[in-house]
Amino acid sequence: MIPAAPTRPVAGRPVADLRLHCMDCGTAVAGDTAVGVCPACGGLLDVTLDLPDRIDPAAIGQGLPAAIARSGVWRYRDLLPALPDAAIVSRQEGNTPLYWDDRLSAYAGLTGAFGVKHEGHNPTASFKDRGMTVGVSHARATGASIVACASTGNTSASLASYAAAAGIPALVIIPEGKISGGKLAQTIAYGAKVVQVEGDFDLALTLLRELTTKHDVYLCNSVNPFRLEGQKTIVFELMEQLGWRVPDVIALPGGNLGNTGAFGKALGELLRVGLIDRLPQLAIIQAVGASPFAAYHAGGWTAYAPMAAETIATAIKIGDPASTPRARRSVELTRGLVTTVTDDEIMDAKAAIDRTGIGCEPASAASLAGTRRLVAEGHITADATVVGILTGHVLKDADAVVAYHLGDLDGAARPGSNRPVRIAADLAALERVVDDALHG
Ligand SMILES: [Zn+2]
Repeated sequence: MIPAAPTRPVAGRPVADLRLHCMDCGTAVAGDTAVGVCPACGGLLDVTLDLPDRIDPAAIGQGLPAAIARSGVWRYRDLLPALPDAAIVSRQEGNTPLYWDDRLSAYAGLTGAFGVKHEGHNPTASFKDRGMTVGVSHARATGASIVACASTGNTSASLASYAAAAGIPALVIIPEGKISGGKLAQTIAYGAKVVQVEGDFDLALTLLRELTTKHDVYLCNSVNPFRLEGQKTIVFELMEQLGWRVPDVIALPGGNLGNTGAFGKALGELLRVGLIDRLPQLAIIQAVGASPFAAYHAGGWTAYAPMAAETIATAIKIGDPASTPRARRSVELTRGLVTTVTDDEIMDAKAAIDRTGIGCEPASAASLAGTRRLVAEGHITADATVVGILTGHVLKDADAVVAYHLGDLDGAARPGSNRPVRIAADLAALERVVDDALHG
């Protein structure tokens, strides 16, 4: 028997003072149970934070319990929802590297610098862990008996891992046959109950929403405002790594636009507490085949229309981004840029990133491909300092990588493709291959 959905107020829960408010109508919402969208108007919710007037950079991460201080998310606790220590489920997420590589600057057309913040170095290999540590901690604080999401990729693996760490059962709903092999393997391995629904993603999510309104099932989907609080720490950690010196541009892939929304909120908060003194421009890069936000922006925010999404970059293959209003707010705040790139541009940029030894999932490479386009078009000056966000690991969508290098995508070899060769078990043949590798 599944417990019924709790009704507010929930006595005795340690999160009675957590508050949220609607972005659109301002309605205040209590944060002591699983929350979705505004009960009054259906708008997106923001967690309400009582920020201090000033945060001393030297004080960040100080005075925290060791297990929390080691997390690249929870060390920024003064800028996050006030969840009790005992509820926090951490796997030392975050703490991701910031790489600089002159080859990537050159690829982007920059005489300045191009760095990449690699979120694929999180425990389950994507940025989703930053949001999930906050989402699952909130679930635990509210006494949730089971957590759930609908996902075909990084989210499912992340939820499964954090639920396992918390000892809470997890339910992952996927449309039939629409999940990447690696992500399915992770999700099953971490012990989540995986349910394949006959139908598409929207149908799977609708079914899950129906379940969560009737029963005490904590929905950890992408509009969950607590997850977005965790995703802010990509920006916090990046700025700390830069010594709080603001780059000219932060370029990131735009799919469901949760990061875009979170980044703008993060930057506004850093400015408010005096940790930075100006805002960088955000540059949001969408795939041509999944670009409703770019069209919305290009039309001066006058008309928004969802589209049927198609791109090789599965993590941004989204035709109706859930966080569109949040993302618009972020672009407006930072006088940001929005552009699109083709699948070929994405895969060529990915090959360039991979070839440096860094490596990333296809969607991540949109950050470099888009920077290159924006520099070429004069929207980013050549001497700018740009940081691109890599959202996931090179092992995501491995089939696309192999197809690219084998020339199976469109039958033609792409620049930088690296096709394995086959030889007889013969020393002379092997010597010829080594000679080619050295001189060819
Ligand atoms: Zn509202």
